[in-house]
Amino acid sequence: MKVNRSEFIISAVGPSQYPQDALPEVALAGRSNVGKSSLINKMINRRNLARTSSQPGKTQTLNYYRINDDLYFVDLPGYGYAKVSQEQRRKWGQFIEEYLTGREPLKLLLLLIDARHEPTKDDVLMYEWVRHFELPLVVVATKADKLPKSQWQKNVKIVKETLGMPKDAPFVLFSSETGMGKEELWSLIESAIGY
Ligand code: GDP
Repeated sequence: MKVNRSEFIISAVGPSQYPQDALPEVALAGRSNVGKSSLINKMINRRNLARTSSQPGKTQTLNYYRINDDLYFVDLPGYGYAKVSQEQRRKWGQFIEEYLTGREPLKLLLLLIDARHEPTKDDVLMYEWVRHFELPLVVVATKADKLPKSQWQKNVKIVKETLGMPKDAPFVLFSSETGMGKEELWSLIESAIGY
């Protein structure tokens, strides 16, 4: 996809603020700091449209970015941030579940996992949760540039096995630094939204 226009639309706190124009939505989930904002910026060739590292775990909003007149990227609040209360966790779960199960324009979920480490318990739970909802899903392993090339294969295997991914499930090794995986991810997004 050639991105001509990208624009921040809204930090939505609830469904009444979600856009009404029915453009397809591609949502991003992952732990705080996994690289969601950086991935959005890289995909749309902007240095700083999606805000990186703003108060991890604190933002309970869905951030909408419109790309051309083709789709929205929807940045979901990160999970796995240690300093949130049980009550906040419960609210997060409810908010996200409502969106993932009830949002008609949602066409694809990108689940971001840090390529450097074994997926956490939260990552595995999130993966299982998404599969349970039967949402179209791409697992994106981020920060590949922080690993030597010689370790890519081994780490990819660990991520896939820890999550329990089926053999041919969509998977992209990505770097917001180098742009690795960008074209592959755009192809998967394009087919998911019927572009
Ligand atoms: P978010 O909380 O998931 O939105 O994560 P951010 O996009 O804010 O990224 C968290 C930190 O990781 C920032 O300091 C980014 O610069 C860094 N980061 C994100 N993606 C990459 C990547 O692909 N490579 C490298 N080297 N750093 C990254």
